[in-house]
Amino acid sequence: MHIREFQQLIDRMYSDKDRARGSAKTFLWFAEEVGELASAIAGKTDRANLEEEFADVLAWLVTLANVEGVDLERALTKFTGGCPGCGEIVCRCTAKMT
Ligand SMILES: [Mg+2]
Ligand SMILES: [Zn+2]
Repeated sequence: MHIREFQQLIDRMYSDKDRARGSAKTFLWFAEEVGELASAIAGKTDRANLEEEFADVLAWLVTLANVEGVDLERALTKFTGGCPGCGEIVCRCTAKMT
């Protein structure tokens, strides 16, 4: 599945509720899922739950993009030509090493 197809699927499933809720409240749901992912990464849950939390975070990020009218597949083209910092496919930037 392409990112665009996933975004369209999420839009079809949830767009009415998402637009009624709005960006600010949707962002809070996204943040809650990021917290759940943090707990899963910290090993507080099992492997199946870790996978589930990655899915939840991505779905809520896609939801936010829908509410904001952002085409994520188009936005992601900033990475398709290489690292946005150094332009290389294998990044040579020294920032964010830790
Ligand atoms: Mg979750
Ligand atoms: Zn780089």
